[in-house]
Amino acid sequence: MDTIYAPATARGKAGVSVIRISGPNAFSGIGKLVRNLPDGHGRCLRKICNPQGELLDEALVLTFPKGGSFTGEETVELQLHGSIAIVNSVLKCLSELPGYTLAEPGQFTRRALENNRLDLTQVEGLADLIDAETDVQRRQAQRVLSGAVGRLAAIWRRDLVRAAALLEATIDFVDEEVPVDVSPEVLELIDRTLKSLKQEYSGSAAAERVRDSFEVAILGRPNVGKSTLLNAFAGRDAAITSEIAGTTRDVIEVRMDIGGLPVVVLDTAGLRETEDPIEQMGITRALERAKSADLRILLVDHVGDVPEVGLGDDDIVVLAKCDRPVAGVLGVSGKTGHGLDRLIEMVNERLSVRVAGAGVLTRERHRISAARGIEALLGARIEVSNGSGQTELAAEQIRFAISALDVLVGRIGVEDVLGEIFSSFCVGK
Ligand code: GDP
Repeated sequence: MDTIYAPATARGKAGVSVIRISGPNAFSGIGKLVRNLPDGHGRCLRKICNPQGELLDEALVLTFPKGGSFTGEETVELQLHGSIAIVNSVLKCLSELPGYTLAEPGQFTRRALENNRLDLTQVEGLADLIDAETDVQRRQAQRVLSGAVGRLAAIWRRDLVRAAALLEATIDFVDEEVPVDVSPEVLELIDRTLKSLKQEYSGSAAAERVRDSFEVAILGRPNVGKSTLLNAFAGRDAAITSEIAGTTRDVIEVRMDIGGLPVVVLDTAGLRETEDPIEQMGITRALERAKSADLRILLVDHVGDVPEVGLGDDDIVVLAKCDRPVAGVLGVSGKTGHGLDRLIEMVNERLSVRVAGAGVLTRERHRISAARGIEALLGARIEVSNGSGQTELAAEQIRFAISALDVLVGRIGVEDVLGEIFSSFCVGK
């Protein structure tokens, strides 16, 4: 096993730059550059010299013994002055140490996974935490990183293993004269797990949205003021990035932080009757995109003038170009900013209701595993409850559910998903 090293902080000038080293030769290798390295948990200020004895920097050196670090391996962190020249010279020295290789993206975390310091969902939570741009994203990622999925899965697994064992016991003792009827307990175990799994499954759509962003589409006829409203949204401090081009010329997107929620606001092509086939395509696309969005804001010229665009109960209809307050009317003006705060508040309220039901299954992968588990348990439930005598079949279905949950936390099938997960990590993590 190589000892890996990499900068753990972004490249460039900074107050401090951190280089992290992990592996069996971490202490012995760094001991060649630093005198009197503590060999357990320790921190000290030390001069770092190259093998020729030239001083490279004075650094805070942190040591973590095997079993007591993020990766589970011997680890050293060098907190250097944040200079490009210092970092490069130290990296060069490290590259020349025996058994040392530059880490690949996510390789430290991968070792943490291999050494059972984290389960697969925690690795995903960590990736999400690093990517988090808003408070709600941060909180959700922290919950997953803390092992919330693993804790739930452990309870599900414990109950299902008992249910399967009870069924298998009756298969083995089928010839006994008075076989104990295990079905009430098996059903109770299945039902308890199903209830919890279904609850998490139903919260997964909102949790995925928190991870990826909610979409809010602005709709209305041409010139009603959609782009101006979008710009007003983007001009607020809340905009994360302004006016990134959408997938088509017809949809402009702005990423925003609305009360801690990640939201992409979409400006769609103006809706109107047209003979122009190109414009017609734009409108069709706008309508499709608006339909798949989480929420729609429809700008209208007159109160009560709502075109047929398939609005849901939650969607917001607002009077456009309402530059000044008008009693009893929900209006907005991208020009004067009137009504903008109220509109943002309404968007936040509507999306927050959905987030309240978000669970800890934050990825499609999680949702698929949960769905497989639910399906198998429903099958097992039928076999057990109708007393069909198909005990083997029921036990097999429960085993199938257990393996779906094992895939979820990465007990099995890890290799299939690691590439994708670690591709999103940076070097040094
Ligand atoms: P879109 O086609 O729906 O995107 O409409 P635009 O945002 O391009 O606006 C069309 C015209 O209406 C432009 O001349 C804007 O300056 C004007 N406009 C847009 N929003 C407002 C508003 O809130 N108040 C006023 N008075 N004019 C507006």
